[in-house]
Amino acid sequence: MNKSDSEIVASVLTNGGYTVTTEIGKAGIILVNTCSIREHAEERIRKRLQYFKSLRKNSPGLIIGLLGCMAERTKVALMEEERLLDLIAGPDAYRNLPQLLRQARQGKRVFNTILSADETYADITPVRLDSNGVTAFISIMRGCENYCSYCVVPSTRGVERSRNAETIVKETRDLIENGYREVTLLGQNVNSYHWQTGDQNVSFSHLLEMVALINPLMRIRFATSHPKDLSDELLRTIARYGNLCKAIHLPVQSGSNSVLDMMNRKYTRKDYMDRIIAIRHILPDCAISTDIIAGFCNETEDDHRDTLSLMEWVGYSAAFMFKYSERQQTLAADTLLDNIPDEVKDRRLKEIIDLQQKLSLKSNSEDIGSVFEILVEGISRRSKNHYFGRNSQNKVTVFPNTGTRLGDYVQVRIINATSATLIGEPV
Ligand code: SAH
Ligand code: SF4
Repeated sequence: MNKSDSEIVASVLTNGGYTVTTEIGKAGIILVNTCSIREHAEERIRKRLQYFKSLRKNSPGLIIGLLGCMAERTKVALMEEERLLDLIAGPDAYRNLPQLLRQARQGKRVFNTILSADETYADITPVRLDSNGVTAFISIMRGCENYCSYCVVPSTRGVERSRNAETIVKETRDLIENGYREVTLLGQNVNSYHWQTGDQNVSFSHLLEMVALINPLMRIRFATSHPKDLSDELLRTIARYGNLCKAIHLPVQSGSNSVLDMMNRKYTRKDYMDRIIAIRHILPDCAISTDIIAGFCNETEDDHRDTLSLMEWVGYSAAFMFKYSERQQTLAADTLLDNIPDEVKDRRLKEIIDLQQKLSLKSNSEDIGSVFEILVEGISRRSKNHYFGRNSQNKVTVFPNTGTRLGDYVQVRIINATSATLIGEPV
């Protein structure tokens, strides 16, 4: 999501007469796009700011600005703390950047952290940064109103709004014309996407269908789905089109009913299991991945075991796993105690990671012998004679280069697997 935002910023500034450089020593302006989801992310940004400060010695006029969620969360307070900041802009203020930069260049310290109810940057064609020319992201909505009790997003990114469907279709068309072969549609809860045009109501299923129909060579992924809103209609749409990828990221957060309730996730363990059964039934070859938080407020050993048992029951192909990090301006920080000792959080997180390692290996090992269509994304980091790409299930697959090019689809038979990678041979 942040990468997608950086591409919007790059577009706004390119139109304003600036150019993007990949050499930091040459930059006259450094804008840091930030995340506030966990404290750790913010700590890393503070360290990075110290490094940027050191660059000022060689480049006295250098402007340093902070963008995104941390800018929104801390507002001017951070400017007071980090005296090196010239500019602060929240996630809905990017159109205002050329003006803010003009003022900053006159020596003023400037900020805009106003959140909008309708900004979607729909008309802005992102400048693709650090791109492999094959895969790209498209933001289809902004903000979130689910108010999961641990989460800072509703306060840093504002109310939920969907982007004009026609602009999403156009952006996808432009991408395929420029050689891209995969787009990931992004939103905090894509299942609640809705756009009204004339008398047509575009739901997320409709949008997926519109995008899938553009060109069968364009693969479509999406993230993230909230379990409470994942409908059978959506699953049936995914089943109908070969280019809608058979991979669903369905964050569970916890396997315990009482923790889910405290998290304000609005589903129970049984509701979640019912959704998994629906996926297995409608999309038998679909991979399921998740997000899990270890050590949320009041989590007991039984609650933790419920998470482990649910993980095992689902058999996730992959997971992002975090230890709970209390964030200011969230329901949990206001109403619950962050009362699980750090060493207990660490131990539970480790148990979750160890289990997921086994589940990923099991899921990948089951693919040995199968043939998948792999979209070639790049040269393997380990060997320049190997390419890597992904199958529809979003599993990274490495195979020897037999004369294919980036952006090609290759049929690959899987001959071996680790917990992170499938290893194959073109057939
Ligand atoms: N909108 C998406 C995910 C947003 S953030 C969704 O609802 O699924 C990505 C992940 O970060 C979350 O799924 C959650 O697992 C994790 N996360 C969010 N806030 C957190 C916090 N305060 N502490 C630890 N992990 C957190
Ligand atoms: Fe945060 Fe919940 Fe919204 Fe995801 S759905 S962004 S976890 S509030």
